[in-house]
Amino acid sequence: MTNDPVRLATPARASWQQQLRDAVRDVAELAALLELPRDAIAADAAARDFPLLVPRAYIARMKKGDPRDPLLLQVLPTALEAVEVPGFTHDPLSESEFAEAGLVRKYRDRSLLITTGACPVHCRYCFRRSFPYADQLAARNDFADALERLARDGTKEAILSGGDPLSLGNARLASLLERLAELPALRRVRVHTRFPIVLPDRIDRGLVALLERARVDVVIVLHTNHPREIDEDVAGALRALRGAGVTLLNQSVLLRGINDDADTLAELSERLFECRTLPYYLHLLDPVAGAAHFDVGGPRAEAIYRELLARLPGYLVPRLVREIPGQASKTPIRLGL
Ligand code: SF4
Repeated sequence: MTNDPVRLATPARASWQQQLRDAVRDVAELAALLELPRDAIAADAAARDFPLLVPRAYIARMKKGDPRDPLLLQVLPTALEAVEVPGFTHDPLSESEFAEAGLVRKYRDRSLLITTGACPVHCRYCFRRSFPYADQLAARNDFADALERLARDGTKEAILSGGDPLSLGNARLASLLERLAELPALRRVRVHTRFPIVLPDRIDRGLVALLERARVDVVIVLHTNHPREIDEDVAGALRALRGAGVTLLNQSVLLRGINDDADTLAELSERLFECRTLPYYLHLLDPVAGAAHFDVGGPRAEAIYRELLARLPGYLVPRLVREIPGQASKTPIRLGL
């Protein structure tokens, strides 16, 4: 099993692991790369609480000199994160109530595994930005406890989440998929990942090969918020995943100043479709502390969604949902007549 990027366009390109080690973690460096004044984008306190992390492959898609670039705003620590807003908490989905030994069991027949706390990027609006990964890792005991629990529950769908499950190396992922395939009731494995979008070289030959070999159906749910996130490298990575027989879906978060208009969301759906990926969910922001400035608000979200419905064929319109802790599923937003 090799770890070469599938496209192999540039043999000199560093491995995904090296690209991750070289990711930008320093606000001053990010400002310099984007030719922005340091004080235009600095928020040291926010960066201390939830550090900046962004791969250079993703920075390369940002516009130089534009402090409002929609890709930059997703990763940039700002002073607004310190503003306390009622209703915005550190555990907005009450996951501490549902998490046990690295499994989050909220929905019938499905279980979510916290496979790792590591991510290829730190998204400022992430609802798990304060998640206690040290206490909640299914990877503990090499997943033995988690797999035993999934077997006991008769789980039909295992959802690999985190952090980002593609942070695990190929050998570990292959072993995990093998063991999941042996669970008698299991029908599918779903993988929630942002890697193909922010660091597409993660989709290397080894990963494609293990997905091709998988003895269980694999669904990959990407996380893409803006059409400019999908460049030719990302499109190539998604083609490789499709070639491996994976079903590709996308979820987005509706984010103020980033994708809160129908033009952007319609173009995102079109671009995803060109990459053989169907839009799945458009989430209203989870009210996590530090992210209130991204909130679009219900009425405006509904207006944008109505326009999307009018412009796109139904299969390109993601479902507009919010997550309400304790509900048996995501809650679809009902549009007023
Ligand atoms: S990659 Fe996913 S889990 Fe990681 S910070 Fe972004 S949204 Fe959160």
